[in-house]
Amino acid sequence: MVAKKEKLYTPGPTTVPPEVLQASAQPILYHRSNEFREMFRALSANAENIFRTKNPVLTLTCSATGAAEAAIQNIGAAGEKAACIMNGRFGERWFELMTLYGIKTEVQNYEWGKAVEPEHIRTLLRDNPDISMIWMVHCETSTGTWNDIQKVAEIIKKESNALLCVDAVTSMGVHECLMDEWGIDVLITGSQKGFMSPPGISFIALSERAWQKVFAQNRRGMYFDLVRALKNYEKGLTPWTPAITLMAAARLATEMILQEGLENVWSRHQRLADMFRNKMDTIGLQNFSETPCNALSALYIPPNVPDITERLLGKYGIRVSKGQEKAEGIIFRVAHMGYCNEQDIEEIADAIEEILRQ
Ligand SMILES: *Cc1c(COP(=O)(O)O)cnc(C)c1O
Repeated sequence: MVAKKEKLYTPGPTTVPPEVLQASAQPILYHRSNEFREMFRALSANAENIFRTKNPVLTLTCSATGAAEAAIQNIGAAGEKAACIMNGRFGERWFELMTLYGIKTEVQNYEWGKAVEPEHIRTLLRDNPDISMIWMVHCETSTGTWNDIQKVAEIIKKESNALLCVDAVTSMGVHECLMDEWGIDVLITGSQKGFMSPPGISFIALSERAWQKVFAQNRRGMYFDLVRALKNYEKGLTPWTPAITLMAAARLATEMILQEGLENVWSRHQRLADMFRNKMDTIGLQNFSETPCNALSALYIPPNVPDITERLLGKYGIRVSKGQEKAEGIIFRVAHMGYCNEQDIEEIADAIEEILRQ
């Protein structure tokens, strides 16, 4: 018997196309060679295109949490005041991170599954005019919730000079997110979600204003010193030995995204998300989120099938995720992002339907 194939539909890591896996298995490039520079420059240009920014997108050898830590270490000073907008586990993570760096962090907190209400941020800024940066998650993966970054950005620009820092880890290459046009100051993403690449590297871009703040700081650490990263980037290099094989993979994956066309990629995600939700609706499975994102669906676990994730894996080889922390035992999460098409949606939906019918 052939061993059961496992299909990965977790909201990170996501399935990597075979040709991208192959790209990561090529001979190692010396990271000071011209071949490396060429690969690195192509990857950076692709990422800048997907971020919709004219500013450099720096590739860091660490997961996305490392990119967030790099940002906070470089632009945040102990004692300054920031705000964290939270409607799930990742927002909570950025609150914890800022607190660890001694940043006084105001919070705007929402129940899990609820969307951020942009008008609340106006009030928050009027009440706290000394807030210098605001962290927010575009797609909150713990609840499958999309937040209106464009609206929030508009309000921030009207009300204050605070920098807007966005976790776009599950929205880059999934949802429209226009860094420069919307006025996002710090944007981070990882390789293992919509970028359909192996986990292990992340991407960060800063606006002109954010860079000014970085240059003015006197303590930026070493490994994550973004000024060193920027100076090297200008030469097509990284300050330290990077994850060369993962960058080669991400270079191809981002090329595939751009070849499909970024707008087409966004609309494919919309189509797949709609298709999946309609199917779930028909069989009576409800969405947990008030404003579902297109990267994944968080669905209530049907009361008569509490072990739905185990059954999907055991019988169908379909790997999905459980809920985390306070959503554990309440929801399960199915990703439809990255390397995903209609056939995949059919397959998952049919398996769920069959389980419910039994
Ligand atoms: C996956 C994810 C992260 C980053 O997690 P890492 O494990 O550090 O890559 C951050 N934010 C969101 C919204 C995510 O989905």
